[in-house]
Amino acid sequence: MERSTIVRVQDGLHARPATRFVRLAKGFESDVEIVKGEKAVSAKSSVKLMLLGVKENDEVSIRADGADAIEAVDALIAYLENPLSGVEEGAGESATQPVPPQKEPAPKKVDAEASTPVADGGIHGVAASAGLGLGPVFAHFPQQIVPANKTLSADEIAPEKKRFEDAIVRLQEKLDRSLASDGMQESDRGIVAALRDIASDDALRDETLAAIDGGLDAVSAVIAASSRLADDFRKLDDAYMAARAEDMESIARQICLTLLGQEDARLDDIPDGAILVAEDIGAWDLARAPLKRLGGVVCGHGGATSHVAIIARTHGIPAVLGLGEAVNQLREAKEAAIDGHTGQVVVEPDAATRARFDEMIGAAAREKEALKAYKDVVPRRADGTVIQVAANLGSLEEVEAAQEAGAMGVGLFRTELLFMRHMHLPSEDMQAETYAELARAFPDHPVIVRTLDIGGDKPISGVEFPEEENPFLGWRGIRMCLDRTDIFKVQLRALLRAAVHGNLRVMLPMVSDVEEVRRTRTLIDECAAELKAEGVACGEFPLGVMIETPAAVFGAAALAREVSFFSIGTNDLTQYVMAADRLNPSVASLNDAAHPAVMAAVEQAAKAAMDAGIEIGMCGEAAARSDLIPEFIRMGLTELSMSPASIQATKKQLSELLETAA
Ligand code: PEP
Ligand code: MG
Repeated sequence: MERSTIVRVQDGLHARPATRFVRLAKGFESDVEIVKGEKAVSAKSSVKLMLLGVKENDEVSIRADGADAIEAVDALIAYLENPLSGVEEGAGESATQPVPPQKEPAPKKVDAEASTPVADGGIHGVAASAGLGLGPVFAHFPQQIVPANKTLSADEIAPEKKRFEDAIVRLQEKLDRSLASDGMQESDRGIVAALRDIASDDALRDETLAAIDGGLDAVSAVIAASSRLADDFRKLDDAYMAARAEDMESIARQICLTLLGQEDARLDDIPDGAILVAEDIGAWDLARAPLKRLGGVVCGHGGATSHVAIIARTHGIPAVLGLGEAVNQLREAKEAAIDGHTGQVVVEPDAATRARFDEMIGAAAREKEALKAYKDVVPRRADGTVIQVAANLGSLEEVEAAQEAGAMGVGLFRTELLFMRHMHLPSEDMQAETYAELARAFPDHPVIVRTLDIGGDKPISGVEFPEEENPFLGWRGIRMCLDRTDIFKVQLRALLRAAVHGNLRVMLPMVSDVEEVRRTRTLIDECAAELKAEGVACGEFPLGVMIETPAAVFGAAALAREVSFFSIGTNDLTQYVMAADRLNPSVASLNDAAHPAVMAAVEQAAKAAMDAGIEIGMCGEAAARSDLIPEFIRMGLTELSMSPASIQATKKQLSELLETAA
């Protein structure tokens, strides 16, 4: 039994989606292989699967042989076709392990203050987790395990293989105990579970057993097999996969220690605020260390996507990794200062550096705490007009963070994810329930849902996209929706149904012509008439447009006569005004919303809105830029929508700004 498909899993079969795919495969009795190009590997080995390097949009086949072959192929194909497999609990499989978000956050944006060098000199590594640390050095340099390369006699081979198998079982039990303990955070648990899978993976096991069969002692065999597999990971042209080499080496070390009856030095005695310094540290060791006490992590190995970096970022611990040989300068050091924004490490900082770090660390902690006071602030202009500080969201899972931050409604709900995460187009019922839940979550504020904004560069199941030379200038957003009314009408009907909650608003993306609005209105009227005829409860919603094309700016006066509000999408507006692709790093300096040309476009749209007496807000990234906010307020914007993390700082800035202006 064999079937092919195109992989839709976001970012392909990386660590966690791969681990869950393997767990799903292992649930079937049949032998199951995944085939990519000429290569076929067992679908029951995470390591082999990861080494196959299956990426999003790759074509692969699933081949199964056994009693439940049909079920296995069906389930695995369904998994591969679901963009959120491995991310969502229960997506395409019945998961048994808690799993942290699949995509580890990128290292935090370097802010202007933190990026100024905090001290001259020092050594540099990879800025892997933002923040500043200053504290005593806790050097953790466990002894290296050197392979004895002992040659076994023929009758020693079978017992040695058993010794190896027993060591794996003991290590798994140890990892299981650790996973079952209360001390570990859910997110770290997922990482440790992935390491445990590597420990029991067929790839490492088979290679090690083959080496023992060849007469090598177990410890040397594990080291040889794991080094080979680690090298294979490093050869992959992918930083995330290459970081798995470190996981492989770290788990091999644990197997060797188990074989030798030894334990790595524990990190339990780390003093408060200490900087943990190591040549390399296993993610498992770090996960079970007293993380609350850590002031920072510095390692010779590792990069921004290694598990150590992920754990550090999750716990807000500053980290500088990949220092190489330079890490040895810290072996005997007493104190270190680290800057996780820039990757700088100062060994034995002098009094001036220490004072500067102390001041900045204290200021950052105080600022974060103090910002909480702004959660419920309602910024108002002197004339009483409220400035809405709203949230940009992509799914219902993000609602809680927005509420906790004090979001005054939703300025942009991107509906794309709803369409991308399913194998089929989402049903009207499912969409109606999602939009209604969103509206109910912010009963006292407007909730703006944007209709589907999908382009040729992001396929969704159920829509054939043409090959396009310039997808950003192509069949996307409202253009596609008006051509595919079968899809658009389902969304509009769902929105009309959710509009029984009076706070729902709807916004159209990529508008460049008033006709697009008029045609949408005709469809809305059609949908409303259909729903009434069917006896389905529905309401009405204010209709707005995004201002994100130059045509919308120049045609803003005409558009303003057709709609109830504007929301400026500076992400696209900047790329179209500046003719600088928002995804192309070589034109990044031109792609700046602060450019006078972009600001002039924003002002022109704002003027058109005010002349027509309609509301204007902004939901592009620039809405949270503290350097531009005063200008946007001066231009007359009354709503700024942003990621929940920026809300409190923006509320603070606005309340100070508006107070001074009053
Ligand atoms: C924008 O273009 O500014 C915007 C908010 O939309 P998106 O980033 O989803 O294209
Ligand atoms: Mg846009």
